[in-house]
Amino acid sequence: MLRPDLLLQPTPKGLYCPPGDFYLDPVRGAVDRAVISHGHSDHARGGHGKVLAHPDTLAIMACRYGANFAKSTQALEYGETVEINGVTVWLAPAGHILGSAQVVVEHKGLRMTFTGDYKRRFDPTCATFEPVENTHVFISEATFALPVFRHPDTGHEIDRLLQSVTDFPERAHCIGAYSLGKAQRVIRHLRLAGYDDPIFIHGSLEKLCAHYQSVGIDLGTLILATSDDTSKAAREAFRGKIIIAPPGAFEGKWAQRFPDPILGFASGWMSIKQRAKQRGVELPLVISDHADWDELTDTVREVNPEELWVTYGREDALVRWAELEGRRARPLRMVAYDDEAG
Ligand SMILES: [Zn+2]
Repeated sequence: MLRPDLLLQPTPKGLYCPPGDFYLDPVRGAVDRAVISHGHSDHARGGHGKVLAHPDTLAIMACRYGANFAKSTQALEYGETVEINGVTVWLAPAGHILGSAQVVVEHKGLRMTFTGDYKRRFDPTCATFEPVENTHVFISEATFALPVFRHPDTGHEIDRLLQSVTDFPERAHCIGAYSLGKAQRVIRHLRLAGYDDPIFIHGSLEKLCAHYQSVGIDLGTLILATSDDTSKAAREAFRGKIIIAPPGAFEGKWAQRFPDPILGFASGWMSIKQRAKQRGVELPLVISDHADWDELTDTVREVNPEELWVTYGREDALVRWAELEGRRARPLRMVAYDDEAG
């Protein structure tokens, strides 16, 4: 069997496949050929030559970077295979955001599975993570790879938000959520919990929410909170309502329109009380699009690879855990990493 480091190599530009001559999620400069796991900007950049990705990821990249974000694109559905210079590539659902995929790379009897970002718990806006059998090398993300990170049940966090809306009907609920994935997921969870009031959104969410709706993810009635109407009536209309925007938007002038706001933030990082406090978050909602410690370790046991490679985040803790379990493991120490999704 081929040696793993001959099939995928960590480089400053991202994981590189020498026989296939392509990169996985290259984010340092443009490359000729890229396979992209999902649409977050710390994985998907514009300007590459050829891009291979799930159709939803291509659509998301077009929303964010314009239709000409690459010289050419190729869409690959989950489970469909393609040959790149004799290397077989296919995608399996990663459960992270719409279109997110694990990239499976196979050559000369060796199968390597790159998770991109992933999670295991229920997300009504994307396909559920599927473990890839007979994986020789499993390349796992590690954003929340410390035993202190154990995310609560998502329904519980959504109930806390709805309870706050009931308890404080005179205040606007301003909920920070990253514009791709988290925002749509929070909205969809609210709808599933029976909340059917219109939800106000920041303009930067408009195109992405429209794409989610176009593929059948019902987000209900969304109203753009972009009006320049500064009248008292316009301001009063936000009382008791939920407004969703990227976290930074609530720090600017745009947010001054909301009466007596309660500031919330939906992120896995909200389990760190100090972080919530620093950001002035009154209603921290621990809703993450990444696997927590138990999901990471359970997944490694389930996939049961011959070798674990760890990247994007807390590499050392997961590597150490694996070694204590008698597993071969290595940190990739590949790129400085910037988590967009939390
Ligand atoms: Zn991501």
